[in-house]
Amino acid sequence: MPSTPEFQQTVSKTASFSGTALHTGEKVTLKLHPAPVDHGIKFRRKDLQDEPTIDARIENLKTVERATTIGEGSVRVHTVEHVLGALSAMGVDNAIVEMDANEPPIGDGSAQAYVDLIKKAGVTAQEEPRKFFDVRDTMHVESKTGALIVLLPDDKFRISCTQAGPNNRFAQFLSMEVTPAGFEREIAPARTFVFYEDVKPLMDKNLIKGGSLENAIVVRGDAVLSKEPLRFVDEFVRHKILDIIGDLALVGRRIRGHVVAVKPGHAANADLARAITREQTRRSAVATPRTIPSGEGGLDIDQVMQILPHRFPFLMVDRIISFETETKCVGVKSVTINEPFFQGHFPGHPVMPGVMQVEAMAQVASILLFKLAKTTSRIGYFMSADEVKFRKPVLPGDTIFIHAELTKSRGERLAKAKCHCVVNDAIVSEAELMFTFLDK
Ligand SMILES: [Zn+2]
Repeated sequence: MPSTPEFQQTVSKTASFSGTALHTGEKVTLKLHPAPVDHGIKFRRKDLQDEPTIDARIENLKTVERATTIGEGSVRVHTVEHVLGALSAMGVDNAIVEMDANEPPIGDGSAQAYVDLIKKAGVTAQEEPRKFFDVRDTMHVESKTGALIVLLPDDKFRISCTQAGPNNRFAQFLSMEVTPAGFEREIAPARTFVFYEDVKPLMDKNLIKGGSLENAIVVRGDAVLSKEPLRFVDEFVRHKILDIIGDLALVGRRIRGHVVAVKPGHAANADLARAITREQTRRSAVATPRTIPSGEGGLDIDQVMQILPHRFPFLMVDRIISFETETKCVGVKSVTINEPFFQGHFPGHPVMPGVMQVEAMAQVASILLFKLAKTTSRIGYFMSADEVKFRKPVLPGDTIFIHAELTKSRGERLAKAKCHCVVNDAIVSEAELMFTFLDK
């Protein structure tokens, strides 16, 4: 987990470049403008009346055949994935991409021209923290064409990609962490490639007028046809990684997770972006406090505070919802963004500290000890924690169900409790706690 806050970034000033549009073959000028915080990336069609803009969001995805097209109403922008990949990987969160045509200049078929443009414009930090999507549970998407993408929890944005052409020709693999420097060096120069059998029908229909060996590598049989030699022996898998970064930029948040992709394509990439957005929407929806039944035999906050000496900000139990037996109970704690620990843990990336979850477990276990001893004249001191595991991050808006069970009570002086915390039906942390009793 990062210990320094990450702030949103935009370009420092407007910069532009011109080139050829892939599908129409016409000249197009692309201008990159700074934009305010929480603006995201928007495309502006300067060539149309009223200069409409299109949000680079998955909700606006229209088609994924050969390239990624977004649109709002009747307005379209084609082939957005390379410019989005460059903006995302180079750390630009907010910008306006203005064009006087319906697609960006294709450049040499790589993201090099866009990286050069971003560097020309410069990148500036803004005052608001970045928004992240932290992968908690493994997610995956599959397509009929054989694409498989798995997304795993990770504290960095990583991509491990396997690419293979027809009959597994040019099978390639690369794994990397996506950083601006790594992207510029390893990914941005990788050009678009096509297998001859795939583009032949398009060329026959004259659908790729701007396409040439200047801006794509054509693979025919085992022969690689291109204007200049391959830039990397594994240039194809590198380009696939570029497309993944560009398509996932449509999520609108930075991803902390590991993408493991096998033969990915725009359709599968877009499916993953959709799945991430759905999960984000679900998380935002459950972030409203859940109503918890007071339940038979539970304790409300007043009763909890009669037993526990802890007070704000250190009282980590809102309510005991049930006692299953004398030695087993479940407490609940609603975690809000107002918890003092979120201010410093971490700015822009609030995660509940694991030690606070252990404290919550200890407090719920203490309530069991009190019930058993039937007196408040002695107090249980927390001595040790064993087998502590933090499995998933706990975030603002989560409701933690704290399960505690007394497993051993050795004589009068020592007690042991097995505890775990649950959020959204998944165990987020667990520990075995030892207590000793002392007279107050
Ligand atoms: Zn591409």
